[in-house]
Amino acid sequence: MSVFENNILAQQYENFFRYFQVGERFKYRERIEAMPAKNEISLYVDFDDLLNYDRKLAQDLLENPDTHIKEVSETLKRLITLYDNEYANKIGIFHVRFKGLPKENHIDIYNIREKHIGKLIAVEGVVSKINNVRYKIVEGVLKCPTCKEEFKVQPDEDGEIRTSGKCPNPDCKYNGRMILLKEKSRFMDIQSILIKPEIIMPERKSRNLRILLMEDLVNIMKPEDRIIVVGIVRVGKSKTHGFYNIYIEANNIELKEKAIQDINF
Ligand SMILES: [Zn+2]
Repeated sequence: MSVFENNILAQQYENFFRYFQVGERFKYRERIEAMPAKNEISLYVDFDDLLNYDRKLAQDLLENPDTHIKEVSETLKRLITLYDNEYANKIGIFHVRFKGLPKENHIDIYNIREKHIGKLIAVEGVVSKINNVRYKIVEGVLKCPTCKEEFKVQPDEDGEIRTSGKCPNPDCKYNGRMILLKEKSRFMDIQSILIKPEIIMPERKSRNLRILLMEDLVNIMKPEDRIIVVGIVRVGKSKTHGFYNIYIEANNIELKEKAIQDINF
């Protein structure tokens, strides 16, 4: 559990964005203000800035990233709304992506363990496989076949939209399958890649680690790119019954250097 209440977290991140200064300049306030004009959906935050601003907040982010990332993203959206309400509504979901995690939070691919699940870490590796982009539903719009009313629903824990149930319109008795209006629902780009260690110990097998990328992190790298992934360690069901695999849900990707084939051109 985070040591902060959610509303306090939101207030602290808002203060950080509004008042963090480098010299005379309000670094994040200026960046946020410029986001609509640049058509950006993500704000990049240097972890060191947060650490300098509020050490306790920065350390709690590493321990409780799910709570923090949810609050900080909603805070970002609220601030963008102040500058450009129309843009904020059009985009819907904004991201705060952290970079430059401390050395002690860089975990070797071989050393990621159960104790890291749910924590924010950085892991370095070489891109070994890139899968196709898929689409994940983040908000469904259902239509009742009887009263024709439309309503928004959130996906369940497995990411599925339940299309059956009682119509929420109190004047309607319908109970059954609803129509999913795909063109009105919201989808998110999603892509999984594999990374392997940069140096494979001669006495060990290589280890491939799955990284889940969403939205503007999708399709930004090539095979053999050396990257630093900042992300939350997750556990997911494996294809083998009864087994679970560790993977990383990326919050940010930093390119260490381009793949060799790029440098030659
Ligand atoms: Zn109905």
